[in-house]
Amino acid sequence: MTTTVITRIGELVTNDPEREGLLGLVHDAAVVLDGATVAWVGPAADAPAADAQVDAGGRAVIPGFVDSHSHLVFAGDRSAEFEARMTGQPYTAGGIRTTVARTRAASDDQLTSHVARLVAEMRAQGTTTLEIKSGYGLSVHDEARSLAVARQFTEETTFLGAHVVPADTSPEDYVELVTGPMLEAAAPHARWIDVFCEDGAFDVDQARAVLAAGADSGLRGRLHANQLTYGGGVRLACELGLVAVDHCTFLSDADVAALSESGTIATLLPGVEFSTRQPYPDARGLIDAGVRVALASDCNPGSCFTSSMALCIALAVREMRMSPAEALHAATATGAAALDRDDVGVLAPGKAADLVLLEAPSYVHLAYRPGVPLVAGVWQGGRPGLG
Ligand SMILES: [Zn+2]
Repeated sequence: MTTTVITRIGELVTNDPEREGLLGLVHDAAVVLDGATVAWVGPAADAPAADAQVDAGGRAVIPGFVDSHSHLVFAGDRSAEFEARMTGQPYTAGGIRTTVARTRAASDDQLTSHVARLVAEMRAQGTTTLEIKSGYGLSVHDEARSLAVARQFTEETTFLGAHVVPADTSPEDYVELVTGPMLEAAAPHARWIDVFCEDGAFDVDQARAVLAAGADSGLRGRLHANQLTYGGGVRLACELGLVAVDHCTFLSDADVAALSESGTIATLLPGVEFSTRQPYPDARGLIDAGVRVALASDCNPGSCFTSSMALCIALAVREMRMSPAEALHAATATGAAALDRDDVGVLAPGKAADLVLLEAPSYVHLAYRPGVPLVAGVWQGGRPGLG
Protein backbone atom coordinates (compact mmCIF):
# COMPACT_ATOMS: atom_id res chain seq x y z
CA MET A 1 0.00 0.00 0.00
CA THR A 2 1.34 3.43 -0.92
CA THR A 3 1.60 6.03 1.80
CA THR A 4 1.35 9.76 1.15
CA VAL A 5 2.20 12.58 3.52
CA ILE A 6 0.45 15.91 3.02
CA THR A 7 2.72 18.33 4.81
CA ARG A 8 3.12 22.05 5.51
CA ILE A 9 -0.64 22.36 6.19
CA GLY A 10 -1.08 25.84 7.65
CA GLU A 11 -4.38 25.00 9.32
CA LEU A 12 -5.77 21.48 9.60
CA VAL A 13 -9.40 20.87 10.59
CA THR A 14 -9.64 17.38 12.12
CA ASN A 15 -13.05 17.47 13.86
CA ASP A 16 -11.35 15.08 16.26
CA PRO A 17 -13.13 15.34 19.64
CA GLU A 18 -9.83 14.31 21.30
CA ARG A 19 -8.35 17.62 20.18
CA GLU A 20 -9.15 21.14 21.30
CA GLY A 21 -12.19 23.13 20.20
CA LEU A 22 -15.10 22.22 17.97
CA LEU A 23 -12.90 21.71 14.91
CA GLY A 24 -9.86 20.13 16.58
CA LEU A 25 -7.51 22.50 14.73
CA VAL A 26 -3.82 21.69 14.26
CA HIS A 27 -1.49 24.36 12.86
CA ASP A 28 1.69 23.63 10.85
CA ALA A 29 0.32 20.13 10.46
CA ALA A 30 0.74 17.01 8.37
CA VAL A 31 -1.54 14.07 7.54
CA VAL A 32 -0.32 10.66 6.40
CA LEU A 33 -2.61 8.60 4.18
CA ASP A 34 -2.15 4.84 3.93
CA GLY A 35 -4.30 3.59 1.08
CA ALA A 36 -7.91 4.49 1.81
CA THR A 37 -7.41 5.49 5.44
CA VAL A 38 -5.72 8.15 7.52
CA ALA A 39 -2.63 6.70 9.22
CA TRP A 40 -1.28 9.66 11.17
CA VAL A 41 -2.20 13.28 12.06
CA GLY A 42 -0.04 15.80 13.90
CA PRO A 43 2.58 18.55 13.72
CA ALA A 44 4.46 18.55 10.39
CA ALA A 45 7.80 18.47 12.22
CA ASP A 46 6.92 15.07 13.72
CA ALA A 47 5.48 13.44 10.60
CA PRO A 48 6.75 9.95 9.72
CA ALA A 49 8.26 9.30 6.29
CA ALA A 50 5.98 8.25 3.45
CA ASP A 51 6.28 7.00 -0.14
CA ALA A 52 4.98 10.26 -1.62
CA GLN A 53 4.80 13.82 -0.41
CA VAL A 54 2.40 16.68 -1.14
CA ASP A 55 3.35 20.19 -0.06
CA ALA A 56 0.28 22.14 1.07
CA GLY A 57 2.33 25.33 1.10
CA GLY A 58 0.68 26.74 4.22
CA ARG A 59 -2.85 26.26 2.93
CA ALA A 60 -5.75 24.79 4.93
CA VAL A 61 -6.96 21.18 4.82
CA ILE A 62 -10.43 20.10 5.94
CA PRO A 63 -12.34 16.79 6.00
CA GLY A 64 -14.30 16.18 2.80
CA PHE A 65 -17.85 17.48 2.95
CA VAL A 66 -20.59 14.99 3.85
CA ASP A 67 -23.74 15.92 1.93
CA SER A 68 -26.47 13.93 3.68
CA HIS A 69 -29.40 15.08 1.50
CA SER A 70 -29.60 15.13 -2.30
CA HIS A 71 -31.98 14.17 -5.08
CA LEU A 72 -29.66 13.50 -8.02
CA VAL A 73 -31.62 10.87 -9.94
CA PHE A 74 -33.77 12.86 -12.34
CA ALA A 75 -34.00 14.08 -15.90
CA GLY A 76 -34.96 17.45 -17.31
CA ASP A 77 -34.55 21.01 -16.19
CA ARG A 78 -36.81 23.41 -14.30
CA SER A 79 -35.04 26.68 -14.93
CA ALA A 80 -38.28 28.12 -16.35
CA GLU A 81 -40.06 27.34 -13.07
CA PHE A 82 -37.19 28.99 -11.17
CA GLU A 83 -37.40 32.07 -13.35
CA ALA A 84 -41.17 32.25 -12.81
CA ARG A 85 -40.72 31.93 -9.05
CA MET A 86 -38.09 34.65 -8.99
CA THR A 87 -40.53 36.92 -10.80
CA GLY A 88 -43.39 36.44 -8.37
CA GLN A 89 -44.94 32.95 -8.37
CA PRO A 90 -44.73 30.95 -5.11
CA TYR A 91 -43.15 27.47 -4.99
CA THR A 92 -45.55 24.55 -4.63
CA ALA A 93 -44.72 20.89 -4.15
CA GLY A 94 -46.56 20.02 -7.40
CA GLY A 95 -43.58 21.05 -9.51
CA ILE A 96 -42.11 17.66 -8.67
CA ARG A 97 -44.56 16.06 -11.12
CA THR A 98 -42.84 17.82 -14.05
CA THR A 99 -39.58 16.09 -13.19
CA VAL A 100 -41.36 12.75 -12.68
CA ALA A 101 -42.59 12.75 -16.29
CA ARG A 102 -39.10 13.49 -17.62
CA THR A 103 -37.44 10.93 -15.34
CA ARG A 104 -39.83 8.14 -16.35
CA ALA A 105 -39.10 8.91 -20.01
CA ALA A 106 -35.29 8.75 -19.56
CA SER A 107 -33.28 5.59 -20.19
CA ASP A 108 -31.18 3.96 -17.47
CA ASP A 109 -28.05 5.14 -19.30
CA GLN A 110 -29.30 8.71 -19.44
CA LEU A 111 -30.09 8.71 -15.71
CA THR A 112 -26.73 7.15 -14.85
CA SER A 113 -24.69 9.61 -16.90
CA HIS A 114 -26.65 12.52 -15.43
CA VAL A 115 -25.97 11.35 -11.87
CA ALA A 116 -22.29 10.77 -12.75
CA ARG A 117 -22.00 14.35 -13.96
CA LEU A 118 -23.54 15.76 -10.76
CA VAL A 119 -21.43 13.52 -8.50
CA ALA A 120 -18.29 14.70 -10.32
CA GLU A 121 -19.48 18.29 -9.91
CA MET A 122 -19.90 17.71 -6.15
CA ARG A 123 -16.54 16.03 -5.77
CA ALA A 124 -14.77 18.89 -7.55
CA GLN A 125 -16.29 21.14 -4.87
CA GLY A 126 -15.06 18.97 -2.01
CA THR A 127 -17.94 16.58 -1.31
CA THR A 128 -16.56 13.09 -0.64
CA THR A 129 -19.62 11.38 0.92
CA LEU A 130 -23.16 11.87 -0.30
CA GLU A 131 -26.64 10.51 0.12
CA ILE A 132 -28.88 10.16 -2.93
CA LYS A 133 -32.68 9.80 -2.83
CA SER A 134 -35.11 8.38 -5.33
CA GLY A 135 -38.47 10.12 -5.59
CA TYR A 136 -38.89 11.14 -9.23
CA GLY A 137 -40.03 7.70 -10.41
CA LEU A 138 -43.15 7.22 -8.24
CA SER A 139 -43.88 3.85 -9.85
CA VAL A 140 -42.62 0.45 -8.73
CA HIS A 141 -40.33 0.14 -11.75
CA ASP A 142 -39.05 3.73 -11.77
CA GLU A 143 -38.35 3.98 -8.04
CA ALA A 144 -36.44 0.68 -8.06
CA ARG A 145 -34.34 1.65 -11.08
CA SER A 146 -33.67 5.15 -9.67
CA LEU A 147 -32.21 3.51 -6.56
CA ALA A 148 -30.23 0.99 -8.62
CA VAL A 149 -28.70 3.95 -10.48
CA ALA A 150 -27.96 5.80 -7.23
CA ARG A 151 -26.32 2.69 -5.73
CA GLN A 152 -23.62 2.85 -8.38
CA PHE A 153 -22.41 6.06 -6.73
CA THR A 154 -23.05 5.68 -2.99
CA GLU A 155 -24.07 3.23 -0.27
CA GLU A 156 -26.22 5.99 1.23
CA THR A 157 -29.31 5.53 -0.92
CA THR A 158 -32.76 6.55 0.25
CA PHE A 159 -36.14 5.30 -0.99
CA LEU A 160 -38.38 8.38 -1.32
CA GLY A 161 -41.39 6.89 -3.08
CA ALA A 162 -43.44 9.07 -0.71
CA HIS A 163 -42.24 12.30 -2.32
CA VAL A 164 -45.55 13.42 -3.79
CA VAL A 165 -48.81 11.67 -4.72
CA PRO A 166 -48.86 11.06 -8.51
CA ALA A 167 -51.67 12.85 -10.36
CA ASP A 168 -53.55 9.69 -11.35
CA THR A 169 -53.77 8.14 -7.84
CA SER A 170 -55.53 8.81 -4.53
CA PRO A 171 -53.31 9.38 -1.48
CA GLU A 172 -54.73 6.24 0.19
CA ASP A 173 -54.03 4.00 -2.80
CA TYR A 174 -50.59 5.50 -3.27
CA VAL A 175 -49.51 4.94 0.35
CA GLU A 176 -50.63 1.34 -0.06
CA LEU A 177 -48.42 1.03 -3.15
CA VAL A 178 -45.43 2.71 -1.47
CA THR A 179 -45.65 0.48 1.61
CA GLY A 180 -46.28 -2.67 -0.47
CA PRO A 181 -44.93 -3.57 -3.91
CA MET A 182 -42.86 -0.40 -4.34
CA LEU A 183 -41.07 -0.88 -1.03
CA GLU A 184 -40.42 -4.51 -1.89
CA ALA A 185 -38.79 -3.55 -5.20
CA ALA A 186 -36.86 -0.61 -3.71
CA ALA A 187 -35.56 -2.12 -0.46
CA PRO A 188 -32.71 -4.19 -1.98
CA HIS A 189 -31.18 -0.98 -3.38
CA ALA A 190 -31.72 1.31 -0.37
CA ARG A 191 -30.34 1.86 3.12
CA TRP A 192 -32.85 4.53 4.14
CA ILE A 193 -36.52 5.42 3.68
CA ASP A 194 -37.81 8.99 3.61
CA VAL A 195 -41.18 10.79 3.39
CA PHE A 196 -42.03 14.35 2.32
CA CYS A 197 -44.24 15.16 5.33
CA GLU A 198 -45.90 18.43 4.34
CA ASP A 199 -49.20 20.02 3.30
CA GLY A 200 -49.72 18.95 -0.30
CA ALA A 201 -47.58 15.83 0.15
CA PHE A 202 -48.02 13.30 3.03
CA ASP A 203 -49.52 13.90 6.48
CA VAL A 204 -48.11 12.64 9.78
CA ASP A 205 -50.20 9.44 9.84
CA GLN A 206 -49.18 8.56 6.30
CA ALA A 207 -45.54 9.31 7.10
CA ARG A 208 -45.73 7.09 10.16
CA ALA A 209 -47.17 4.23 8.09
CA VAL A 210 -44.46 4.55 5.41
CA LEU A 211 -41.63 4.69 7.95
CA ALA A 212 -43.05 1.69 9.85
CA ALA A 213 -43.27 -0.37 6.66
CA GLY A 214 -39.71 0.65 5.78
CA ALA A 215 -38.46 -0.40 9.21
CA ASP A 216 -40.10 -3.80 8.72
CA SER A 217 -38.06 -4.14 5.50
CA GLY A 218 -34.83 -3.18 7.25
CA LEU A 219 -34.68 0.45 6.06
CA ARG A 220 -33.84 3.22 8.50
CA GLY A 221 -36.02 6.32 8.56
CA ARG A 222 -35.38 9.92 7.61
CA LEU A 223 -37.94 12.68 7.08
CA HIS A 224 -38.51 15.87 5.10
CA ALA A 225 -40.50 17.95 7.60
CA ASN A 226 -41.63 21.47 8.47
CA GLN A 227 -40.24 22.97 5.27
CA LEU A 228 -43.21 25.02 4.11
CA THR A 229 -45.49 25.09 7.16
CA TYR A 230 -45.71 24.21 10.84
CA GLY A 231 -46.78 20.61 11.45
CA GLY A 232 -46.15 17.38 13.30
CA GLY A 233 -43.35 15.97 11.13
CA VAL A 234 -40.42 17.00 13.30
CA ARG A 235 -42.08 15.68 16.45
CA LEU A 236 -42.80 12.37 14.65
CA ALA A 237 -39.10 12.06 13.75
CA CYS A 238 -38.13 12.69 17.36
CA GLU A 239 -40.74 10.29 18.70
CA LEU A 240 -39.45 7.54 16.39
CA GLY A 241 -35.84 8.31 17.31
CA LEU A 242 -34.79 8.95 13.70
CA VAL A 243 -31.15 9.90 13.27
CA ALA A 244 -32.07 13.07 11.33
CA VAL A 245 -35.00 15.19 10.22
CA ASP A 246 -34.45 17.54 7.32
CA HIS A 247 -35.53 21.15 6.54
CA CYS A 248 -36.86 22.26 10.01
CA THR A 249 -37.72 25.73 8.73
CA PHE A 250 -41.03 26.25 10.56
CA LEU A 251 -40.54 25.05 14.14
CA SER A 252 -42.63 25.58 17.26
CA ASP A 253 -41.08 25.69 20.73
CA ALA A 254 -42.37 22.12 21.22
CA ASP A 255 -40.53 21.02 18.06
CA VAL A 256 -37.26 22.54 19.28
CA ALA A 257 -37.69 20.92 22.71
CA ALA A 258 -38.39 17.55 21.07
CA LEU A 259 -35.24 17.82 18.93
CA SER A 260 -33.14 18.78 21.91
CA GLU A 261 -34.47 15.92 24.04
CA SER A 262 -34.39 13.20 21.38
CA GLY A 263 -30.94 13.91 19.95
CA THR A 264 -32.40 13.71 16.43
CA ILE A 265 -30.19 15.85 14.18
CA ALA A 266 -31.83 18.84 12.47
CA THR A 267 -30.43 18.92 8.94
CA LEU A 268 -30.82 22.42 7.56
CA LEU A 269 -30.85 23.03 3.80
CA PRO A 270 -30.32 26.78 3.36
CA GLY A 271 -29.86 26.48 -0.40
CA VAL A 272 -33.60 25.82 -0.54
CA GLU A 273 -34.53 29.01 1.26
CA PHE A 274 -32.05 30.90 -0.92
CA SER A 275 -33.49 29.44 -4.13
CA THR A 276 -37.16 29.79 -3.13
CA ARG A 277 -36.81 33.14 -1.36
CA GLN A 278 -38.26 31.72 1.86
CA PRO A 279 -37.30 32.55 5.45
CA TYR A 280 -34.27 30.62 6.72
CA PRO A 281 -34.44 28.10 9.59
CA ASP A 282 -33.38 29.40 13.00
CA ALA A 283 -30.02 27.63 13.23
CA ARG A 284 -28.82 29.90 16.03
CA GLY A 285 -31.90 29.14 18.15
CA LEU A 286 -31.54 25.40 17.53
CA ILE A 287 -27.85 25.32 18.46
CA ASP A 288 -28.44 27.46 21.54
CA ALA A 289 -31.20 25.02 22.58
CA GLY A 290 -28.72 22.14 22.39
CA VAL A 291 -29.92 20.68 19.07
CA ARG A 292 -27.33 19.08 16.79
CA VAL A 293 -27.42 20.80 13.39
CA ALA A 294 -26.16 19.42 10.08
CA LEU A 295 -25.99 21.21 6.74
CA ALA A 296 -26.71 19.60 3.38
CA SER A 297 -27.33 20.77 -0.17
CA ASP A 298 -30.74 19.21 -1.01
CA CYS A 299 -29.47 19.34 -4.60
CA ASN A 300 -32.60 18.84 -6.73
CA PRO A 301 -34.02 20.29 -9.95
CA GLY A 302 -36.96 22.12 -8.34
CA SER A 303 -36.39 23.94 -5.07
CA CYS A 304 -32.57 24.12 -4.97
CA PHE A 305 -30.24 23.19 -7.79
CA THR A 306 -26.93 23.87 -6.08
CA SER A 307 -24.41 21.13 -5.35
CA SER A 308 -22.11 23.46 -3.42
CA MET A 309 -21.59 22.72 0.27
CA ALA A 310 -19.42 25.84 0.43
CA LEU A 311 -22.45 27.92 -0.59
CA CYS A 312 -24.49 26.23 2.17
CA ILE A 313 -21.77 27.15 4.67
CA ALA A 314 -21.71 30.75 3.49
CA LEU A 315 -25.52 30.99 3.76
CA ALA A 316 -25.49 29.35 7.20
CA VAL A 317 -23.01 31.93 8.44
CA ARG A 318 -24.49 34.98 6.74
CA GLU A 319 -28.20 34.19 6.97
CA MET A 320 -28.56 31.78 9.90
CA ARG A 321 -25.98 33.18 12.31
CA MET A 322 -23.89 30.05 12.60
CA SER A 323 -20.20 30.68 13.24
CA PRO A 324 -17.84 29.63 10.43
CA ALA A 325 -16.62 26.80 12.67
CA GLU A 326 -20.15 25.61 13.47
CA ALA A 327 -21.09 25.68 9.80
CA LEU A 328 -18.05 23.67 8.68
CA HIS A 329 -18.56 21.15 11.48
CA ALA A 330 -22.23 20.82 10.45
CA ALA A 331 -21.21 20.20 6.82
CA THR A 332 -18.70 17.48 7.74
CA ALA A 333 -18.82 15.72 11.13
CA THR A 334 -22.51 16.28 11.87
CA GLY A 335 -23.41 15.48 8.26
CA ALA A 336 -21.68 12.15 8.81
CA ALA A 337 -23.61 11.66 12.06
CA ALA A 338 -26.84 12.37 10.16
CA LEU A 339 -25.98 9.30 8.05
CA ASP A 340 -24.98 7.40 11.20
CA ARG A 341 -21.41 7.23 9.92
CA ASP A 342 -18.34 7.61 12.14
CA ASP A 343 -15.73 6.73 9.51
CA VAL A 344 -16.03 10.01 7.58
CA GLY A 345 -16.23 13.70 8.49
CA VAL A 346 -13.25 13.36 10.86
CA LEU A 347 -9.51 13.26 10.15
CA ALA A 348 -7.90 10.90 12.65
CA PRO A 349 -6.00 7.61 12.42
CA GLY A 350 -8.25 4.85 11.08
CA LYS A 351 -10.79 7.21 9.49
CA ALA A 352 -11.42 7.47 5.75
CA ALA A 353 -8.78 9.37 3.78
CA ASP A 354 -11.36 11.88 2.55
CA LEU A 355 -9.96 15.40 2.65
CA VAL A 356 -9.88 18.69 0.83
CA LEU A 357 -6.98 21.09 0.29
CA LEU A 358 -8.28 24.65 0.19
CA GLU A 359 -6.81 27.47 -1.87
CA ALA A 360 -6.88 29.50 1.33
CA PRO A 361 -4.97 29.80 4.61
CA SER A 362 -8.05 29.06 6.75
CA TYR A 363 -11.41 27.27 6.64
CA VAL A 364 -12.99 30.65 7.44
CA HIS A 365 -12.52 31.56 3.77
CA LEU A 366 -15.37 29.15 2.90
CA ALA A 367 -17.78 31.74 4.31
CA TYR A 368 -15.56 34.80 3.90
CA ARG A 369 -15.18 34.32 0.13
CA PRO A 370 -18.68 33.20 -0.98
CA GLY A 371 -18.98 31.96 -4.54
CA VAL A 372 -15.22 31.64 -5.03
CA PRO A 373 -13.88 28.20 -6.01
CA LEU A 374 -11.49 27.39 -3.15
CA VAL A 375 -10.92 23.67 -3.65
CA ALA A 376 -7.32 23.05 -4.72
CA GLY A 377 -7.32 19.28 -4.20
CA VAL A 378 -9.58 16.42 -3.11
CA TRP A 379 -8.69 12.95 -1.82
CA GLN A 380 -11.51 10.42 -1.65
CA GLY A 381 -10.64 7.08 -0.08
CA GLY A 382 -7.03 8.17 -0.44
CA ARG A 383 -7.34 8.68 -4.20
CA PRO A 384 -6.32 12.17 -5.31
CA GLY A 385 -8.63 14.16 -7.56
CA LEU A 386 -7.85 17.77 -8.31
CA GLY A 387 -4.69 19.50 -7.32
ZN1 LIG B 1 -35.06 17.06 -0.23
